[in-house]
Amino acid sequence: FLYFFAPPSLLFRLPSYHPLAAMCTPWIAEYVWISGQNTYTDLRSKYMTVTHVPIDAATPDKMKVWNFDGSSTGQAAGETSEILIKPVAVYPHPFLDNARVVLSECYKPDMTPHPTNSRVVALKYFDAHKDDEPWFGLEQEYFLYKGGRPYKLPAGGFPEPQGDFYCGNSSKVVGREIVLEHYQACLKMGLKIAGVNAEVAPAQWEFQIGPCTGIEEGDHMVMARWVWAKIAEMNEMEINYDPKPIKGDWNGSGCHHNFSTKAMRQPGGYEAIKQACANLGKTFLDDVKFYGGDNNQRMTGLHETSKLSEFTWSIGGRHTSVRVGNDVEREGKGYMEDRRPASNIDPYLSTVRLYTSAMGYAGPSAEEANIPHEPWWDVLAKEAAQ
Ligand code: ADP
Ligand code: MN
Ligand code: MN
Ligand code: MN
Repeated sequence: FLYFFAPPSLLFRLPSYHPLAAMCTPWIAEYVWISGQNTYTDLRSKYMTVTHVPIDAATPDKMKVWNFDGSSTGQAAGETSEILIKPVAVYPHPFLDNARVVLSECYKPDMTPHPTNSRVVALKYFDAHKDDEPWFGLEQEYFLYKGGRPYKLPAGGFPEPQGDFYCGNSSKVVGREIVLEHYQACLKMGLKIAGVNAEVAPAQWEFQIGPCTGIEEGDHMVMARWVWAKIAEMNEMEINYDPKPIKGDWNGSGCHHNFSTKAMRQPGGYEAIKQACANLGKTFLDDVKFYGGDNNQRMTGLHETSKLSEFTWSIGGRHTSVRVGNDVEREGKGYMEDRRPASNIDPYLSTVRLYTSAMGYAGPSAEEANIPHEPWWDVLAKEAAQ
């Protein structure tokens, strides 16, 4: 009887408990997570067709917790190999129509964080002092590789000493088209990519992510590395994040951390920057544990680097641990640049460690962060004690 009087729109509306009522136009979610295989540049992903939430309404809390086989990524712990992936951020998909990228964290089946989940460790310390509004700008250096050696360089080795490549525009610079593809894709995703430049060694490039506040720096850096993984795959290339891939008189790859707090950015902030440097002078032997494996090979005191066994800072210097810009001294505020972190850092851990150490706060230890012990840490400690 009611059917005769109901308006047509009501006639076809399904009750909310009906399974079909929740269906929307199917779209693709690419879940991305960090595998425990190596140094936070091994990013895995798989696709899921989503119908429970419209694509434009997709937020991390509306996305399903999914899972994968941890025994195939070197992450299996104990008798169960299932690892849960919990969405923490959703981005436009730069390569696929009707799709989103879903950055996810790894959990054990009992919903405790997986040991490789460094994001939760960082978030704990970032959340403890939100008023500081820590900003980061990371300069990710890397080499373009193809077939196991630097892209387009002769098999016999390097053509000539470095010098012409940095910010170069000539036939000596290789890979520009793909580098710009990466740049555009990052912008399409809404990542805060600040810029791109050709670096000192041939086939070496840099992109900058920032300024981002707190945990967002790690998220955007992981996503920008994922964009590279995709583009490298499409071009049958590799991105080399090794801190010193080519031995000898060639620059290694770093990841300078530009850092400021609200206090540093305000008038008189130079004082807060000096205090941060004084604090870093007390914690440096533990801080460098968070600045990438094999970083001792890059930080030799040559090639615009400092020595890891001491902490130094200067205005405008490129051979000190920290560089403070000339404009900071002039204007009395701004930011500082920690030049020690290597290209292969875990950006969640390196940023939170720099932040807590610079502020004199309790920060994560290497044990809490699950950073495996490296023999050169002990060598540094011995050198520093002399
Ligand atoms: P460099 O001169 O050392 O090569 P870059 O231009 O490559 O420096 O990178 C500088 C980075 O610093 C950029 O990512 C930028 O977003 C970031 N940055 C700028 N201002 C601040 C600030 N106040 N706090 C933290 N990072 C900042
Ligand atoms: Mn730079
Ligand atoms: Mn650089
Ligand atoms: Mn720099």
